[in-house]
Amino acid sequence: MRPRHLATLAVAFAATLTLGALPAAAQGSLNVYCSAQVEWCQAAANAFQKETNIRVNVSQKGSGEVLAQIRAEAQNPRGDIWFGGTGDPHLQAAEDKLSAEYRSPMLDQLHDWARKQAEQSHYRTVGIYAGAMGFGYNPELLARRNAAPPACWKDLLDARFRGEIQMANPQSSGTAYVMIATIVQLMGEEPAFEYLKALHRNVNAYPRSGTGPIKAVARGETGVSISFVHDAVTERLGGFPVQYVVPCEGTGYEIGSMSIIAGARNERNARRFYDWALTPAAQQLGAETKQFQTPSNRNTPVPAEAPKMDQIRLIDYDFAKYGASAERRRLIERWDREVNSLP
Ligand code: PLP
Repeated sequence: MRPRHLATLAVAFAATLTLGALPAAAQGSLNVYCSAQVEWCQAAANAFQKETNIRVNVSQKGSGEVLAQIRAEAQNPRGDIWFGGTGDPHLQAAEDKLSAEYRSPMLDQLHDWARKQAEQSHYRTVGIYAGAMGFGYNPELLARRNAAPPACWKDLLDARFRGEIQMANPQSSGTAYVMIATIVQLMGEEPAFEYLKALHRNVNAYPRSGTGPIKAVARGETGVSISFVHDAVTERLGGFPVQYVVPCEGTGYEIGSMSIIAGARNERNARRFYDWALTPAAQQLGAETKQFQTPSNRNTPVPAEAPKMDQIRLIDYDFAKYGASAERRRLIERWDREVNSLP
């Protein structure tokens, strides 16, 4: 098991992928910042490049990291479009005018929750998928430790999970922020921070990436992760002993989003990618790369393996409040000050 602070300090990894050579009639380029799984980022870039002859460069990073990068580059934007990642930091970017307004002709084809994300941001972002938060666990490892799997948020505080839980660091990971915002909405802020402090005793690491904890469960490095449940399906299909559970008290969810970066040098190509990414054909690339979120276009088939969102007890996640710039920053800073600093 890795010490908590080592994992927290793990060197930031950014996969920068440039796709193969194009024929002579190349149609310019597009720089995609991608906060979905790298396999999906790459498949989307490949397919779009093939279809349009636009050269696509992809850089994969967590949702919080892309937001920080876009902010740092605001005077001289290097990215054109931000594809995927949890919705709260996309809403924060919209509020801070780091993303550009665009009303895609595809909006009419989307589920209400995805369109609402666009309306709420004054058309500076849009929902591309949804996914619920829960726990992943390794049944073999828990059986060896004689520990029954968790069923509820409150179970994660139990001594049987001492040093056995991973969640990501909310400074870099949108997934971890959804977890914190979920606990605050379920319990109220003060009890939520008492909960997060108590949980800290059982957490062995806060890795950078939202998918780090479930991958650690799959590899048998930790018994339990706090993750999106669709990520557990991906690991299970990869042949690893992974199960998931949705907490009994109810849980939060993400509206994975997409935004055009304000001042993008390749804005026309970014709009073309945006429209394309909302089509059923493009959205199916998620399932083809074993990503089982619920797609936002009503006509995209929901993968059979995707967790059934309508059977999950979801809270009425307040995206306007928890995606607001000041609130998101405040909660993450409070977590860092009061929880992450604990021994
Ligand atoms: N990977 C998958 C499969 C996701 O569903 C999400 C959330 O949108 C992310 C990655 C986001 O990663 P992070 O929590 O590192 O921002």
